[in-house]
Amino acid sequence: MNASCQCGSVQFKTPLEKPLALYICHCHACQRQSSSAFGTSAIFPRFPLPDQDLLSCYSRPTANGQTLYCYFCKNCGTRLIHTTPNKNIVSVKGGCIDGLDWKTAIHIWTKSAMVPIPEGSETYSEDSGHTDYGRTQEALDQPSGCF
Ligand SMILES: [Zn+2]
Ligand SMILES: [Zn+2]
Repeated sequence: MNASCQCGSVQFKTPLEKPLALYICHCHACQRQSSSAFGTSAIFPRFPLPDQDLLSCYSRPTANGQTLYCYFCKNCGTRLIHTTPNKNIVSVKGGCIDGLDWKTAIHIWTKSAMVPIPEGSETYSEDSGHTDYGRTQEALDQPSGCF
């Protein structure tokens, strides 16, 4: 899938034609991170980062003692990819990817949602309970584990 920041300086392809999972997270941390109503995460197997000369990185410690690296375009500030050093998946921010099927998205932390959740969606009041990619949005971005 093709991905790009808002200004187009950073462009890359995802390693699969669709994500392993797609999450829309309505937690307060994702709202703050995105300056919007919710955060989105398309989970892919780890792949090489786009040209790092074009990226800046914000890193922060996580609840389980790991470090989360959040990459964004140096020019336009679009948040693009969240990784941790020793995890085999990465979280690509969904809005930068062309052609995602948002109807398949799993909505988590709906108890703090600012917008109505679409009928028929898979939803969780708090974390998803999924153990394959992590129990929470935060865990998705971390080794063995929200913004
Ligand atoms: Zn940009
Ligand atoms: Zn979240």
